[in-house]
Amino acid sequence: MTVLRSYVTGTWVEPADEGRPVLDAVTGEVVARVSSAGLDYGAALDYARDTGGPALRELTFHQRAALLKSLGQLLREHRPELYELSARTGATLGDAKFDVDGGIGVLLSYASRARRELPNDTVLAEGAVEPLGRDGSFVGQHILTPLRGVAVQINAFNFPVWGPLEKFAPAFIAGVPSLVKPATQTAYLTARLVELMVGSALLPPGSLQLACGSASGLLDAAAEQDLVSFTGSAATARQLRAHPAVVQLSVRFNAEADSLNCSILGPDAEPGTPEFDLYVQQLVTEMTVKAGQKCTAIRRAFVPAALAGQVTEAVRDRLAKVVVGSPAEENVQMGALASLEQREEVRRSVKALLTAGRLVFGDPEHVEVTGASAERGAFIAPLLLHSDDASRPEPHQVEAFGPVSTIIGYRGAGEVIDLAARGRGSLAGSVVTADPAFAREVVLGLAPWHGRLLVLDRDDAATSTGHGSPLPVLVHGGPGRAGGGRRWAASAACCTTCSALRCRPARACCPRSPAAGWPAPGGTRPAGTRSASPWPTCGSATRWWPARARSRWPISSISPRSPATPSTRTWTRRPRGPTRSSTAGWRTATSSSPSPRACSSSPIPARCWPTTAWRTCAS
Ligand code: NAP
Repeated sequence: MTVLRSYVTGTWVEPADEGRPVLDAVTGEVVARVSSAGLDYGAALDYARDTGGPALRELTFHQRAALLKSLGQLLREHRPELYELSARTGATLGDAKFDVDGGIGVLLSYASRARRELPNDTVLAEGAVEPLGRDGSFVGQHILTPLRGVAVQINAFNFPVWGPLEKFAPAFIAGVPSLVKPATQTAYLTARLVELMVGSALLPPGSLQLACGSASGLLDAAAEQDLVSFTGSAATARQLRAHPAVVQLSVRFNAEADSLNCSILGPDAEPGTPEFDLYVQQLVTEMTVKAGQKCTAIRRAFVPAALAGQVTEAVRDRLAKVVVGSPAEENVQMGALASLEQREEVRRSVKALLTAGRLVFGDPEHVEVTGASAERGAFIAPLLLHSDDASRPEPHQVEAFGPVSTIIGYRGAGEVIDLAARGRGSLAGSVVTADPAFAREVVLGLAPWHGRLLVLDRDDAATSTGHGSPLPVLVHGGPGRAGGGRRWAASAACCTTCSALRCRPARACCPRSPAAGWPAPGGTRPAGTRSASPWPTCGSATRWWPARARSRWPISSISPRSPATPSTRTWTRRPRGPTRSSTAGWRTATSSSPSPRACSSSPIPARCWPTTAWRTCAS
């Protein structure tokens, strides 16, 4: 049994009290004790602002990306250890891979994207240069520069590896230090992850800190340049959104909360069609992966009323084959919930759902368990409900954060669009149909209420990543109840945007960045620049790589173009400055949808922001 340490102000700190015990989800043994007693959040945030921020801002996007890539590669070596710890959270090996490999994949994906699409610079020009004067001598340009604060990252218990990594990666690329606050229930896994990251010696000092235990007092120390990135329940999100730091100091607050995600079966998808089978298979997968503890899991299964009986039958047949038990057992397909408290919470929510429907599979109080005790471990059976009255509010309001789904019948596209909207905003939805007209109508109707929509059919099934997988290259987040936040764009959210107004003798002073109109680093401010203009600090050649970093960080390994002995380096500048195309690529990727091929011939609108719909076109 371990007492979890936090990593703040450059050192590992033990809590000042015994802490609260956190139990193994499978065996009920104590895994760790967790507490934040004695943690000085003010000092931690100051350390990030004063040490981590400046160190990160010395690096270009490409240098940060190279570090991130090295970090991802290093973490890959430690996957078996992380899988083992993950099993203690109740996760099967498949669940653990979803979390661990998914998180590492995010690091690598952000690293390569930053390398491809961002300039080898410390500032990002956003959009085109806007002509403001008639003769073109006065122009405006939006630029993105790192916030001077900290990305405070409060995470939910269900993805202890992927959750922190997918927030850390964009903040790091953006040049903003992170303070990670894991959910207490699974903090031991995040703590080990952070140990590995810190131990890698790849990260600039102060760029990553870890605070285990209660976050009480954390937001009191937040200030104007900080950003809070929260994942968790809608109730906690509401509470934090009303914190004085957010309300009075305009601390940026990004929330990803719970959501009553839906999946819609098209009327064309009758039994015997590939789409019918895909729908059933996907629903069972979403119910059982991570024991249904996924923010994107399907909670509401909308099916044509005439097909409800057949869908129910098919889902029941599959659920009956699901083996629940210890992740250590080879044939087990569904593990435990994260804690006994979580099981009680799920049972309570199911009770509320049952006021509007009936159980058609499973028993909330009983489950056959393989290789573990059903009482000591936080096991629960997959539970399928059927609601006869689609207008009842409960299925559209109550999130049972476990292997629980409700089948609801609908009549016509108009009705199912209305029903989906009763979730008041969701992260993910899916439409399973081979009928392009139905897909188009439903996607357009659902788009305003969803962060992401999947159109699934026989043609894209083999390559589809499925209903519930957040992808690093697409937006994750959703409107309304889902929190109103969006990730991926998080790196942009870590930056401040300002409009830089200036006169433009650009050709004379910055021949290498004609599109953006900014001078090459080390260049001089062009004559005529307004003194009040927020001229970006591009740095001089000698400041490009910080002196202290030269001795400490493995420069040669992170930048293929850097010489092995940086102290003797001739600081030749690479062509730099964002081009129009790289900026456009960045912007398109954060806001638009499928591949150009998919857009051009698809019934799905090419640009249905804020929703991302994706599918692969057959033709
Ligand atoms: P939670 O109880 O809201 O807790 C989330 C995080 O907030 C935890 O780290 C928790 O710390 C912290 N927290 C709680 N009260 C706080 C306060 N007053 N000040 C600062 N931090 C506070 O949610 P959860 O039970 O961990 O997660 C389950 C929920 O998260 C589900 O509803 C699920 O839908 C949602 N979720 C959403 C997404 C998404 O991407 N939208 C992803 C995963 C999960 P402690 O653990 O120490 O209390």
